[in-house]
Amino acid sequence: MSKHCSLRSGGISSEFLKPEDVNELSNFLKINTKPILMVGLGSNLLIRDRGFNGVTINTKNLKDISISNGLIESGAGTSLAKLSRFSQTNLKFGAEFLSAIPGSVGGALAMNAGAFGSEIWQYVHSVKTINLSGKIQERFPKDYKISYRSTLHKFSDEVFISAIFDFNLKQPNDNVRELLHKRNSTQPIGLASCGSVFKNPKDHYAAKLIESTGLKGFCIGGACVSEMHANYIINQNNASASDIENLITHIQSVIKNKHNIELETEIIII
Ligand SMILES: Cc1cc2nc3c(=O)[nH]c(=O)nc-3n(C[C@H](O)[C@H](O)[C@H](O)COP(=O)(O)OP(=O)(O)OC[C@H]3O[C@@H](n4cnc5c(N)ncnc54)[C@H](O)[C@@H]3O)c2cc1C
Repeated sequence: MSKHCSLRSGGISSEFLKPEDVNELSNFLKINTKPILMVGLGSNLLIRDRGFNGVTINTKNLKDISISNGLIESGAGTSLAKLSRFSQTNLKFGAEFLSAIPGSVGGALAMNAGAFGSEIWQYVHSVKTINLSGKIQERFPKDYKISYRSTLHKFSDEVFISAIFDFNLKQPNDNVRELLHKRNSTQPIGLASCGSVFKNPKDHYAAKLIESTGLKGFCIGGACVSEMHANYIINQNNASASDIENLITHIQSVIKNKHNIELETEIIII
């Protein structure tokens, strides 16, 4: 899975499916009996070295995007950068912040991805999901419990196949160039990472807490705390998933000892 995750580490998935379209996915789910793992761009995922004993489903080909009656419908595999560009081209505003997040629509819905004060679910009109039996449903924001980097739903056997967005601002919220410049000057973009590893605890910034303990640059195996942004772990030198997870645990215990704060991971560990 190191080929499919931006941390560039992770063990083997026993099966891997990249459906051409929703029909293929639905037909597969109708006969599948194994656990599934949805993967978009893999930019928030750490797969342990033992790998995943099931079917990894890559949504890359579910990337249709269209506009109708002012609403933008986009497949789960569409990149957030493309969604942001498409909405700007169609003079629909609000999606600018998404251009700074390297993810797919499906992954962003699952994580309630956000940046610069905006979150993706603010703009969701409805989503389409598919369940483990291959049945497609339409769902609405009220069907989910949405909070900071978390989307919980009663329908735990469903995954996202597309979403309809209502980017309804009268003018652009942000200048995309400025956002990208701001991001590139404060975060180690272009290196193997998964962005922020930990959620910000209430009233604190995880990066500041980690920096205060002098852990910037600290490494376990090939995994290092970024010198540029302390909430980033960089796979600097062929880190195994264990190196990365051991570093995560080490940071958590140092912060607990020094500040008595439990750091919760933002990244999903499989
Ligand atoms: C350099 C860098 C900067 C980042 N900056 C930000 C930031 O500013 N803000 C932010 O919020 N995040 C940020 N991230 C994290 C990441 O980009 C987001 O969480 C993104 O939304 C993940 O999308 P993905 O497609 O890569 O999801 P993946 O990593 O592939 O998956 C993440 C989770 O979503 C699930 N999932 C994926 N697709 C689906 C689907 N179709 N249906 C149901 N579940 C699904 C996966 O099973 C997994 O649990 C950053 C990451 C990097 C590498």
